[in-house]
Amino acid sequence: MQSARFRTPAAAAGRRAPPPGARTPRRPRCAAAPRPEAQTQQQRLEVERVSSSQGSRKAVSQAFVKLLGLTTAPKREVAAEEIEAAPYRPYSPPLSDLEVRQKRPYFRGRSWTDTDVARLIFYSAMTGTSVVLGPLTYSPQALELMLAGYVISGGLGISLSYHRQLSHKSFRCPKPLEYFFAYCGALAFEGDPIEWAKGHTWHHKHSDTPADRHSPRDGLWHSHWGWVLDESYADSRRDPKSGSCKDDLAAPWFFVESPGFYTWLRDTYMMHMLGQAVAFAALGGLPGFVWGFCIRVLFTQNMTWLVNSAVHVWGDQPWATGDSSRNNALVAALVFGDGWHANHHAFPSSAAHGLEPWQVDPSYALIRGMEAAGLAWDVKRPTQEQMERLRRRHEP
Ligand SMILES: [Zn+2]
Ligand SMILES: [Zn+2]
Repeated sequence: MQSARFRTPAAAAGRRAPPPGARTPRRPRCAAAPRPEAQTQQQRLEVERVSSSQGSRKAVSQAFVKLLGLTTAPKREVAAEEIEAAPYRPYSPPLSDLEVRQKRPYFRGRSWTDTDVARLIFYSAMTGTSVVLGPLTYSPQALELMLAGYVISGGLGISLSYHRQLSHKSFRCPKPLEYFFAYCGALAFEGDPIEWAKGHTWHHKHSDTPADRHSPRDGLWHSHWGWVLDESYADSRRDPKSGSCKDDLAAPWFFVESPGFYTWLRDTYMMHMLGQAVAFAALGGLPGFVWGFCIRVLFTQNMTWLVNSAVHVWGDQPWATGDSSRNNALVAALVFGDGWHANHHAFPSSAAHGLEPWQVDPSYALIRGMEAAGLAWDVKRPTQEQMERLRRRHEP
């Protein structure tokens, strides 16, 4: 497919070269070059496929549910009227001024798609294994393995690569390093880079509006873990003009630049997930599997989800961003600096999330180190003027 995409129109149509002496018809200049619109169309189709299927994760979910013989409901559009009619009262969580109103039943009285069911079983098994076998297999080495895995998959992978580089293009680095960091991100089991970056970019475009898939305005549990378990509802959150996240077919920049690597990672994603579980078990036995895989994956994902839930509820709002993003020092300490989330919503393309000297930001420190070593460039930061323009003024 890759080679077909870059074949000339004549070659693609199977035409032969004209005989000697024949008058060659005039062609527009650069006719042999790949047509940008054709490439764009191909990329749109590629991204549409992953948008609708979520890559190999969806296929594995379907196969798993079928294997167990479970009955599931098809994904459906949850109508805006149904969401508005939800019988839940609005309230503000302690220490927050945010108004929260659950919009959909979390567990009982709702439909479950094959993806929802597969994920519920997966997370139940992972949590059960962690709670029961975690204490029994604990050792300082097992904890160190879990924390090292968290730094690699959550720090280098999610914070540095998936979030700051791939979703926001806040810095550039050599391609082998970009691929290495992206692979670290894949190990967090939060989806392939295309799926993650598309979902996250959508969140920035529609933060805390009815199109946001994980706003705490729609329920605290929903913003943290619930949206992962309710495909119909999350995908029904839509904007009157741009539709739902799944309607956004724009190809992410890194996919346009390096379609080979990111297509490969997307298509083989579940093999890497299964592979890492087997590798931890083979190399570390039961403690390696429990702490290196189960507990580390659950911990990493919950840390990521704190950035969707807690830091849109608790913390300071120094910028006029128009959404409910906050700066939260505790979450920032847990997630390598990404808890300076109000800063990040104010200046999404900034590689630095901590903008004050006291706002500790380990991911940015690493980017600065790479920049000093000549391994990172185009490192973006907001200017003083941009910051002054967006600073929230307090009335005297
Ligand atoms: Zn972001
Ligand atoms: Zn956010």
